[in-house]
Amino acid sequence: MADHHWDTIEYQTIPIKENLYVMIAEGGNLAVSIGEDGTFLIDDQFAPLTGKIVDKIKKMGGDSPRFLINTHWHYDHTGGNENLGKAGTIIVAQDNVRKRLSVDSRLTAFNADIPASPKQALPVITFGTDTSFHLNGETIQAFHVHHAHTDGDTVVHFKNANVIHTGDVWFNGFYPFIDVEHGGSLAGVIAATTTIIDMSDENTVIIPGHGPVGNKAALMEYRNMLRNVLTRLRELKAEGKTADEVVVVKPTKELDAIWGGGFLKPDQWVNIIYSGLEMPDK
Ligand SMILES: [Zn+2]
Repeated sequence: MADHHWDTIEYQTIPIKENLYVMIAEGGNLAVSIGEDGTFLIDDQFAPLTGKIVDKIKKMGGDSPRFLINTHWHYDHTGGNENLGKAGTIIVAQDNVRKRLSVDSRLTAFNADIPASPKQALPVITFGTDTSFHLNGETIQAFHVHHAHTDGDTVVHFKNANVIHTGDVWFNGFYPFIDVEHGGSLAGVIAATTTIIDMSDENTVIIPGHGPVGNKAALMEYRNMLRNVLTRLRELKAEGKTADEVVVVKPTKELDAIWGGGFLKPDQWVNIIYSGLEMPDK
């Protein structure tokens, strides 16, 4: 990322509810709650953007974040951790996020080697299944969904505002990266989206990890697409096909016009999720 033009990046802020905003630039979508009890931030994209994030929050009436929650360990969601940790932000995440950030990792799909994070970048409060924040007139429940996009995903539910941030369980409008090397699975993403759908009504604002802010109907379309793909890939697995053979078959070809326009090309996506495919228990 040495040649990246970080200076030219501008944050787009989208008001969601009173004192609750989405911030979109590059990397995972941020959400921020601003209020008398302090600023609560979800994810922090990349280290060179921390100054811009904090400036924008201050322009909206907030402060340097009191709390940060990481929805998972990926570098486009945790890149600002070290800056914020040094500035005094309390970083919170599921147990496995701290474990992943503490060691060197490799993301083969992106040919990326990720060094272990320094101490200041690590979550200082971790939880297994869930935790709640009581801030700014809100109950913010953060809960773990198992083996979904990674092995450490958190979904964040602003209960009073009726707003949910899904982390990378949801890529709104396109095929999702699923980190099968680090505990993610297609079946787990489907289960996690179903959990979120079941918690939602037609007024729920659902913030995806990537893509535009959406709602229950859009999340259901995505979940149903993933279910179709899972069924098809399991049939191919039952026939004993290798990942290379499956890619040739183009098992998603009827879906690609709608869902294939993201950063993963259909062949690459099929290859990744098929490599991590688990068959249902007999
Ligand atoms: Zn991710």
